[in-house]
Amino acid sequence: MGSLEGLEVEPQARPLLEEMIRLTDFSVPGHRVAFEDDGTVKFLVELDSLECESVLIPMKAKSTLCISSQVGCKMGCTFCETGRMGLLRSLSVREIVSQVFIAKRVMKKRVDNIVFMGMGEPFDNFEAVMGALDVLTEDAGLGFGPSRITVSTSGLVDQIDAFTERADPALHLAVSVNAPNDAIRRKIMPVNRQWDMAALKRAMARYCENPRREILIEYVLMKGINDSLECADELAHYLRGLRVKVNLIPYNPQSRDRFAPPDEAVVDAFLERMRARGYLTLARRTKGQKIMAACGQLGNLQLRRKIFLDRSSQSHPGCA
Ligand code: SF4
Repeated sequence: MGSLEGLEVEPQARPLLEEMIRLTDFSVPGHRVAFEDDGTVKFLVELDSLECESVLIPMKAKSTLCISSQVGCKMGCTFCETGRMGLLRSLSVREIVSQVFIAKRVMKKRVDNIVFMGMGEPFDNFEAVMGALDVLTEDAGLGFGPSRITVSTSGLVDQIDAFTERADPALHLAVSVNAPNDAIRRKIMPVNRQWDMAALKRAMARYCENPRREILIEYVLMKGINDSLECADELAHYLRGLRVKVNLIPYNPQSRDRFAPPDEAVVDAFLERMRARGYLTLARRTKGQKIMAACGQLGNLQLRRKIFLDRSSQSHPGCA
């Protein structure tokens, strides 16, 4: 049963029945492959009149699926294409899980790992993400081991604490830090005005109290902004006492560039300095850059143009 259409239903029972149908509707939304390049596949999942983006990234023998938790994002990180869209809407449990289902069962792709690093701030859609994690990890659901799933946040402290309390300790947490101090972070990540780096560190420390847990620190390197060796030293100092791995992500070009990618030698020097300070540090090889599917590039330009035109015609109804 997909709707109440044509059925005689008491008016007062209709809202509850409709909600039950919505909650038990496991039909899979439509999708289309947007681009495919060097093994990376970006596909769009249809959600009413909107779409969310998912990216399948092959890595040596394994394959990682990057999924979205929202269409757009309200966090406004200045280096991120999705942040420019604003938040259009959050995804339901079914819509989040559908991205994995489509990749695995419909497109018949291999999915070894899942990362919540697509469009949106997962912790701004906390309950749906927790529900999706249940479905993804339950044997009766898609049966992924929790250790194969990473949830990434820009640093919502209250939700990090809730995740610490409720999440399976085998699930991975990634925190997008991107700066060695508040002065830089406040400029590139508005979330830092609500929760500064000291508050963020306290939340990360609480998360690490369980010895099974460690945090993946994400750090987008932007030329002349946060890529100096002094920044590396300050970052190393900030992370002291936390159980972390560091992932350096050279900035990816975007549709209207405010920042520039760092020189390769600068990335190497930053990496070596972090390692010398005792941190397991990797630099992410940029995949999918040509198809705007790399980190920070998900932003569905076509959709943004459509929304812009829709909004313009609403505020200026005479224009067409
Ligand atoms: S980096 Fe993440 S949290 Fe920040 S604007 Fe982009 S999608 Fe949102």
